[in-house]
Amino acid sequence: MDTKQCTLCGLDKPVDGFHWRIKSKEKRHSKCKDCFCAYMKDQRGKHVKRVRAYDNARTGTPKRLEQNRKCYANTIDVRREYERKRYPIRAEALKAQNRKRWAEESDMMRDRSRKYYASDPAKYAARAAASRAERLKRVPDWLTDEQRSEIRDFYVEAKQNGMHVDHIVPLRGKMVSGLHVPWNLQLLTPEENQRKNNSFLTENETN
Ligand SMILES: [Zn+2]
Repeated sequence: MDTKQCTLCGLDKPVDGFHWRIKSKEKRHSKCKDCFCAYMKDQRGKHVKRVRAYDNARTGTPKRLEQNRKCYANTIDVRREYERKRYPIRAEALKAQNRKRWAEESDMMRDRSRKYYASDPAKYAARAAASRAERLKRVPDWLTDEQRSEIRDFYVEAKQNGMHVDHIVPLRGKMVSGLHVPWNLQLLTPEENQRKNNSFLTENETN
């Protein structure tokens, strides 16, 4: 293979170590790929404010939103299929992740919720009444039929065994909100559930 000398590092490298500049004319950049990459990073670092402003200006525009919407519609089947295949593999990991997150952040969320409850108990009561409706909004639209039926199974099993269905990460967290999805559900005994609810006033999400 032909070699070419990089104008920056001065090394002789095989030509495929240089990015194409104009492929149809078989012209390549004068900097090798390594130097080119380092150069681009350096440039971004130097002009990071301008680059960010440019990136931000491109997001959220009507044109962008339209593109995103189209992309979403075009890939929905692919993503559903992907989710369906991946779910059995990820379920345990996702459960563990939710538990870990809850363990780490629950103290802070609890404090916040206590203050919130004390400031306006009536408002809290109204919120609790809306929680069932809210739960429905926490069902992502990409959930497969299989996963929906898995959720139902949790409730059936709970009824049969006198257990409570609990959302590991609560659906209406002040900081983070969990989803009404199988990997955010666990069965708790009424006692366990009571303990969790007592310590987290606004997050009574069981039935
Ligand atoms: Zn180079």
